[in-house]
Amino acid sequence: MNDKICKNCGTRLSSYYRTGMLGCPRCYDAFTVEIVDTLSNIQNKAYHVGKTPKCSTEDKKLLAEYRRLLAAKETCAIEGRFSDMAEISRDIFALQEELKKRGLI
Ligand SMILES: [Zn+2]
Repeated sequence: MNDKICKNCGTRLSSYYRTGMLGCPRCYDAFTVEIVDTLSNIQNKAYHVGKTPKCSTEDKKLLAEYRRLLAAKETCAIEGRFSDMAEISRDIFALQEELKKRGLI
């Protein structure tokens, strides 16, 4: 994987993949393609898992919330609300950990 760097703040693409966090508004411009890829990959996966019958109601709620946050993050990105986006990223990251623990993603 080639590691891109945001010229404005020095955030690496690899660190975005690890943390889901961007360093500054310019990161979004630097990594647009990858961010969109990551979001749609995660969404596809979550959607797929959400359809499996062994998911409990709580799992489904978490996945629904996860998808909602991802969509909200995309909206913030599109509208340029980067402080909101950073906040949502933190929520997404926390939720990701929980979903991983449950083997949902
Ligand atoms: Zn940056």
